[in-house]
Amino acid sequence: MKRTKYILIVFFIFIFILGLYKPVPAEKTEYLMDTIITISAYGTGAKKATELAFSEIERIDGLLNAFDENSEISKINQNAPYGFYKTTPEVYELIKKAVYISEKTSGAFDITLLPISSLWQIGSESPKVPEANEIKNALFSVGYKNIIFDDESHSIKFAVSGMGIDLGGIAKGYASEKATNILKENGIKNAILDLGGNISVIGRQPLDLVSAVKSGSFYRPFNVGIQDPDGVRGSYKHVYTAESDCFIITSGSYERNFSKDGILYHHIIDPKTGYPALSGVKSATIITDDGTTGDALSTAAFVLGEDSKELILGLCNKVIYIK
Ligand code: ADP
Ligand code: MG
Repeated sequence: MKRTKYILIVFFIFIFILGLYKPVPAEKTEYLMDTIITISAYGTGAKKATELAFSEIERIDGLLNAFDENSEISKINQNAPYGFYKTTPEVYELIKKAVYISEKTSGAFDITLLPISSLWQIGSESPKVPEANEIKNALFSVGYKNIIFDDESHSIKFAVSGMGIDLGGIAKGYASEKATNILKENGIKNAILDLGGNISVIGRQPLDLVSAVKSGSFYRPFNVGIQDPDGVRGSYKHVYTAESDCFIITSGSYERNFSKDGILYHHIIDPKTGYPALSGVKSATIITDDGTTGDALSTAAFVLGEDSKELILGLCNKVIYIK
């Protein structure tokens, strides 16, 4: 009798301890690429892998930040107006990919908007509404077709004066893809990355014991909330259940903006007008296996609005517009 009681007590303590079991991810948040970046990775080696992924993001930021005069993209902007500039194969391929998306989206995505975004300075401390003639003049220097490529030497030259490249609409997607690869190469099977609206999902979310017993599985798919453009940060309009590895990327007018005389000006520019895009949507979300393309596509889908659905769906798995 005494023995049974003893066994029962041990059994309940065991169950209690198991009940406390909760898979804890290695989690890290940093402000990089002008946004808040969080990586949560589970399993053995997750801490090390997360550190390596962050180093990769830092490396990419160092290459692609147009506002850092020592970055590779700034070197292109400084030299390509005067003739062919030989860049790294990595940056060359990324620029080619960006131009490919421009071609596929009838120029709605265009990395040569730098002369226009420099006028607006949206996201800076002193954004301003440019004069109409300033925009008109700057538009002469915009156009992805004016980037001249030399594949053999991976060199780039600008055909028109005043040109400049800004990879702000694709760089975070590229970084999220590279960081995802680093985690996978380091054996991570379950993780979620958030690079300011660029979400990447690896595998599924490990569950605590109580939830695992309830659901009959130790894992469940990651649920990714899609921001309500009119709500406070963290309030969701949709929840996307990621059944497999994918990127979920949102571009929205709520991200960076300012108001002047009652008008809201945001950071996604329509290359045809030089003004913030007015396509009737407040955000566009892309779900895809290709994080780099997905980032560019979310910007293009925002610029083009709902009418672009068929075109965009030709280049990704799913698109969600929020009006
Ligand atoms: P976020 O940076 O908020 O994730 P996006 O991915 O849509 O949003 O990228 C917006 C950034 O891309 C802008 O801050 C600007 O640097 C650049 N950009 C703005 N409009 C365009 C456009 N039509 N095509 C390409 N890049 C753009
Ligand atoms: Mg984008």
